[in-house]
Amino acid sequence: MTALFPTYKRFNLAVERAEGTTVEDTDGKTYLDFGAGIGVCNLGHRHPAVQEALESQLNRYWHVSNLYHNPIQEKVAELLTTNTSGDQVFFCNSGTEANEAAIKLARKATGKHKIITFEQSFHGRTFGAMAATGQEKIHSGFGPMLEGFSYVPFNDIDAVKQAVDGETAAVMLEVIQGEGGLHMADAEFVQELEKICAEHHLLLIVDEVQTGIGRTGKPFAYQHYGISPDIITSAKGLANGVPVGAMIAKESLREAFGPGAHAATFGGNPLAMAAGEAVLTHVFQDDFLQDVTKKGQYLKKRLKEAISDVPIVSSIRGKGLMVGIECSEDVSHVVPQLIEQGLLVLVAGSTIIRLLPPLTVNEQEIDQAVDLLRDVLTEKKISSH
Ligand SMILES: *Cc1c(COP(=O)(O)O)cnc(C)c1O
Repeated sequence: MTALFPTYKRFNLAVERAEGTTVEDTDGKTYLDFGAGIGVCNLGHRHPAVQEALESQLNRYWHVSNLYHNPIQEKVAELLTTNTSGDQVFFCNSGTEANEAAIKLARKATGKHKIITFEQSFHGRTFGAMAATGQEKIHSGFGPMLEGFSYVPFNDIDAVKQAVDGETAAVMLEVIQGEGGLHMADAEFVQELEKICAEHHLLLIVDEVQTGIGRTGKPFAYQHYGISPDIITSAKGLANGVPVGAMIAKESLREAFGPGAHAATFGGNPLAMAAGEAVLTHVFQDDFLQDVTKKGQYLKKRLKEAISDVPIVSSIRGKGLMVGIECSEDVSHVVPQLIEQGLLVLVAGSTIIRLLPPLTVNEQEIDQAVDLLRDVLTEKKISSH
C-alpha cells in the first residue's frame, strides 16, 4: 500500500527527467510525450525561455502576498487582455479555481444565480466547478450539488433557449470539450449562443482551461468562432507546468469584484507569473500560432493516412494540436500498450484517444507517434481485454 490516496489510476511508469517532447523513466526508457502533462507543457518540458525566467525569479523572491503591488502580474494580465476580449484578470492556481471565480463573478455581477452548462462538459472538481460539470459520474456520492446549474445537450440551441429563465445569469461552455470526448461546437451554434446571451443579458463564459494558450492554433479557441465572451477561464498551459489559473473578464464586470469580493493566497505567485510571461510572449506570436495550425493539419493528415482504415477507428477530429481518435470500443486497454511501445497519450470519454503534444513538437516526432499508433491499433499488436 502507498501513502497516497488512490484517487488516480496510475500507469506503470515513473518519470526521471524530461526535455522537449521526450520523457525518460526511472529505468532509462524514453517516451514521446503526446499528452504534455494534460495539455500543460505547451512549450515542451523544460523550455529554455521558461527555465531561464524561473531561475531568474528564483533568485529575486518567491512570494510576497497580494497585499502589495505586483508588476509581474500586471505584465501577464496585459498579455492576456491584449490577446482576448477581456480587460480585467484575476489570478488563482488551477482551472477549477478559475471557474469558481467565474461562477462567483457571474452571480455577483448579475444578481442572479442560474448557469446553463452542457452535457459531457468538464469544469473541475471543487463544488462550484463540479456542479457546473455536466457528468453524473463526477457528482456521484458527494451529496447535494451547488444549486442553479442546468445541463443541456451540446450544439442544441433550442435546448439553451428553453433553459433560459428570469434567474439565468450565464451560459458556460468549452468550445471543444476536452475531457468529455473532443466534441467540437458548431460555428452556427456558438454564434447563435452569443446572440441569445445578448438578448437575455446573460454572461457568456468560455472555459479555455484546456483549449487556450495556443493549443488550437489561436491564443484561445473561441477566437475561431468570432465571438466576444464576457468571461474566459485559463489554466493548464498558462505557465507550462507551474500551477496557475486565470479568469479574464470584460471591464463592465470590474466593479463586481471589488476589494474583499474574492481572493487567493497563492494567486499570481511570482514564479508562476515569471513562467507565464515567458510562455505567453512565446505562444502569442503569429508565426508560432501558424506553425501550430500547420503541424495540427499535418498530424491529422498523417493519422488519416495511417489509421483511418483500422476497423476500430471511427473518426479523427480536432483543431490545431488538440486531436481525438474516436474508436468503436473502450480504449483503456490501448493506452498501456502505447506506453509499452514508448508513446504517452490521453483518453477522453472512454472511447477516444486524445493527443495533446507540446506545441513545439516537430514533424519527425509526429511521424514516429503516428507509426506507433498504427502498430498498436492494427490487429497484430492489439490484444483484447
Ligand atoms: C482540466 C480542466 C479543468 C480543471 O482544471 P484543474 O487545474 O485540474 O482544476 C477545468 N476545465 C477544463 C476544460 C479542463 O480541461
